[in-house]
Amino acid sequence: MTEIKPSNEDEYRMRTRLIHGSFHSKHWEYNHHIVPPMSASAAYRLDSVHRGAEGFAHFAGQEADDELPIFIYDRLHEPTGGLLEENLAHAEGGEVAVCFATGMAAISAAFGITARAGDEILAHHTLYGCTYSLLANWLPRSGVETKFVDLRDPQVLERSIGDKTRVVYFETPVNPTLDLIDIENIRQRLNEINHARDEADRIVMIVDNTFATPYCQRPLLHGADLVVHSLTKAIGGFGTDMGGVVIAPASYHHDLLLYRKDFGGVLSPRNAWPILVYGLPTLACRMSNQQKTALKVARFLERHPKVDRVIYPGLESFPQYELAKRQMVSYDSKFAPGSVLYFVLKGDAAEAEQAAEKFIDDIAKNAYSITLAVSLGQIRTLIEEPYSMTHATMPGELKTAKGLAPGGIRLSIGLEDWHDIITDLADALDHLPDRRNAECDKNELKTQRNKAKMSR
Ligand SMILES: *Cc1c(COP(=O)(O)O)cnc(C)c1O
Repeated sequence: MTEIKPSNEDEYRMRTRLIHGSFHSKHWEYNHHIVPPMSASAAYRLDSVHRGAEGFAHFAGQEADDELPIFIYDRLHEPTGGLLEENLAHAEGGEVAVCFATGMAAISAAFGITARAGDEILAHHTLYGCTYSLLANWLPRSGVETKFVDLRDPQVLERSIGDKTRVVYFETPVNPTLDLIDIENIRQRLNEINHARDEADRIVMIVDNTFATPYCQRPLLHGADLVVHSLTKAIGGFGTDMGGVVIAPASYHHDLLLYRKDFGGVLSPRNAWPILVYGLPTLACRMSNQQKTALKVARFLERHPKVDRVIYPGLESFPQYELAKRQMVSYDSKFAPGSVLYFVLKGDAAEAEQAAEKFIDDIAKNAYSITLAVSLGQIRTLIEEPYSMTHATMPGELKTAKGLAPGGIRLSIGLEDWHDIITDLADALDHLPDRRNAECDKNELKTQRNKAKMSR
């Protein structure tokens, strides 16, 4: 492999760096191709048994830094995913990244390498529905129990940590309520607790950074131990492929690779390629545009008479606005509140729920720029109702107690012209019955009934 210019790529800004990646990857020779390859070879030619043995010995991070990887079999290690991993680690400010078939496969691996039977996980009470189900339904079968608590409250954190606690897990912003959790604050508390513990008993902090993306927030720099992502969302960005990643210090590399090898949830090179070629290189320009639109849409909704409340970290009315400004910061040090917002329509719980369904159905039927679908972070604006859709697995009492209202609406802003998104929202809001008129109608109905009664 010949050394090629420039050797100073780390001096470039991240937006540029994400487009070009590394010219010095061990996984590819950049002298010929501009676009990296989509590798399609389940197994690899070895020129001697000795080389094969060396490959197995090198696998899982035992190779020296300057050695080229010896590829053996795609489930162990392959070039396209390897290139993506290098770039993801860089984007997140981590040492290593290991990719998985989906976000859930990555999250399972993060728990798999950090918790054993008898250990306890402390998780924030509101989580992506499948993560909740993994913790509540599946991990207990292997003897790993989870306590769901409010991690926004430092006292609750301290009270809930026990001798068996090994992992603290949360999303920030939380899907879908957009609550924030203060990573640095939790780091401080864990440092105090870990100080008195043996190395093997220390508590590890794992953060799901899917909602913010590394463009808006880099939890490792605030003190998280591991970061997980669903690559299916804003990092992939175009909604064509699923994927997940764990980003961690190099000391976890060995376990992550071995876990992936044995549980088998690898990211296929065909799915890694679009994320490598289209997704990550456009992340910065997509997110900077989408969050500008998100703020405009949030302000429009906040002023609308039929909207009860809008939750978006970029709004001054956001309850944790100060924390948002400190924790959600782009690569160029600007406030980066993300591209997802959550809002509730006016009325009591039942009315708001009815209105939300009517409103979303109207969007599904009539809006050109907004699509009813789960998932988020795509170039297309997507709308859904988390209570009955993505978060259906969470028990109802838990959801309502935690601010996840039956009528809550999640809106993931895409790259469309913001005027069009606002027009489509405004039209659907117009189609809702006017609540003041509804009140009048109700009163009118009552008087008529009373009159009818009296005349009987
Ligand atoms: C979608 C999502 C996941 C799961 O990712 P998949 O790629 O769908 O497996 C995990 N966490 C959050 C916050 C998500 O939004």
